[in-house]
Amino acid sequence: MMNENIFTRNEKLAQKVIKGLNSRNMSGYYASSAEEAKKMALDLIPEGSTVTMGGGMSVHEIGLVDALKKGNYNFLDRDQAEDKRAAMLAAYDADFFLSSCNAITEDGVLINIDGNSNRVSAIAQGPKKVLFIVGMNKVCSDVDGAMKRARNVAAPINAQRFGLDTPCAKTGSCMNCKSPDTICCQFLVTRFSRHADRIHVILVNDSLGF
Ligand code: SF4
Repeated sequence: MMNENIFTRNEKLAQKVIKGLNSRNMSGYYASSAEEAKKMALDLIPEGSTVTMGGGMSVHEIGLVDALKKGNYNFLDRDQAEDKRAAMLAAYDADFFLSSCNAITEDGVLINIDGNSNRVSAIAQGPKKVLFIVGMNKVCSDVDGAMKRARNVAAPINAQRFGLDTPCAKTGSCMNCKSPDTICCQFLVTRFSRHADRIHVILVNDSLGF
């Protein structure tokens, strides 16, 4: 059970992040639990929508993927697709693209790093809407802190998870490598959305992903 003081801190901090997102033409919401986050997401995604994603443990962790698969949605499952390239290209035409992020700043800037770069490219443009599921553990004070988190926390864990041959997989922190296996090919800093109602962020009072 989450400590009550952390709950209050997260709620207050989330309001600051949401204000920052709003100032950047993006929408933010605060869910007090993973279950509430799943309900909020399903309220945002109309039945019949074509939905896809480019990885994202947080999206799985709140039970959203299972709910979409069971529900009346056209869920494009990249992992099950025989033609991965076709699945990747189909994602650009989806109604909703689901993602977590590597870090988000207190004033609403989203940071994502990518190796194949299908995820960051779909966040940047293509899908009609992008819905982020973000645990409050991903909130950092500023862009510098968010970049450090992405490189020194998220990337090494992902490199270890996928069995990649990178220095961070061995040491646990970023060595700014140019390894063939690097997952730091592209860095996407989302500081404003040109299109209103395209980018939505549900902040969750939980520790999700890494
Ligand atoms: S640049 Fe290389 S060492 Fe640094 S986090 Fe990325 S993959 Fe790891």
